[in-house]
Amino acid sequence: MGNKAYKFRIYPNNEQSAFLAKCFGCSRFVYNYFLRVTTDAYAESKKSLRYKEWAKLLVKLKSEFEWLTEVNSQSLQQTLKDLKSAFTRFFKKLGGFPNFKKRSNRQSFRVPQHFLISENGFLKLPKMTPLKMVIHREILGTPKNVTISKTPSGKYYASIVTELDIAHAPLNGNKIGLDLGLKEFAITSNGEKFENPRYFQKSLPRLKVRQRRLSRKQKGSSNLDKSRLSVAKIHEKVANQRQDYQHKISRKLTCENQAISVESLNIKGMVKNRKLAKHISDVAWGNFLTMLEYKGDIYGCEIRYVDRFFPSSKRCSNCGYIKEDLTLAIREWQCPECKKVWDRDINAALNLILFSESKIPLEEGKFTPEQPVERLGITRSSG
Ligand SMILES: [Zn+2]
Repeated sequence: MGNKAYKFRIYPNNEQSAFLAKCFGCSRFVYNYFLRVTTDAYAESKKSLRYKEWAKLLVKLKSEFEWLTEVNSQSLQQTLKDLKSAFTRFFKKLGGFPNFKKRSNRQSFRVPQHFLISENGFLKLPKMTPLKMVIHREILGTPKNVTISKTPSGKYYASIVTELDIAHAPLNGNKIGLDLGLKEFAITSNGEKFENPRYFQKSLPRLKVRQRRLSRKQKGSSNLDKSRLSVAKIHEKVANQRQDYQHKISRKLTCENQAISVESLNIKGMVKNRKLAKHISDVAWGNFLTMLEYKGDIYGCEIRYVDRFFPSSKRCSNCGYIKEDLTLAIREWQCPECKKVWDRDINAALNLILFSESKIPLEEGKFTPEQPVERLGITRSSG
């Protein structure tokens, strides 16, 4: 088990800001009240109150100050727990004596359970309507608690702590080579293939219609704004679909393996040409490699970059024979040397592992791509 923390900006509306202000206020009141009571009790009798006694006192306090019942009661209990750990730290000489909380400082309260995070960017807390939250990165693991805070400058944040179950990433020593392409999005040396969904390509007809409409709109008209919005929405949808797809693959690969050898984007960059540029931006390899890296950190999978070009498709990964006459049309071939039969992509991915482990002599890495298209695995008919 591991923990991970995320911090996202939230945007409450006026009504929500008013309620949050109440939550901050109640939490601050409870914290300060118990800090006072505990300090006084200690000064009088040298006895410190235990959490159990605090909890009883909190119930009494709530009947006395009814406004305390308007906020989530678990957040108030959590405030007591936070105060308790502040005292524990003090007694263990790990921290100073707990301070009273001031309204002018950063405000916060914690929600230990019964909250929901929706994928379309909302955070639902007890006793209030869903808050708009900007989730700028994928949340990994099971959310355990959320702390809502407001900075003195008036910005609101949600800090989410999750628990990661790393148990499903066994240390099996699995190593794979991963060949990224356009025909297939990715092919592993185990023979697993992930199709290239071409989301942008698929949305093109719709996008073209909307863009044509947009170009006909008058400057400054309300229809222009609507039209712009509808074009933006298509782009957003494409980005989300691509993101989801890559999250799934990167999580699976980093969970199941301890090392992934992949060509660096400098090598991929060699193949950039005008005709392919839009296909390349549609597969978004850079984004995918970033995901592989950070998920690799979490699940214990090393990402190894192969940063030299070598003829990975033409080289037999079994014996090193270079099949110079391998053309694009040939998806399967037999090595004349060792007689092994290859799927060209799987063989290429296997070579990536060998290269990253220096099992291929470096001089084989001096090649420059003469036919870049080939490395992308596009056949002429589909490209
Ligand atoms: Zn061979």
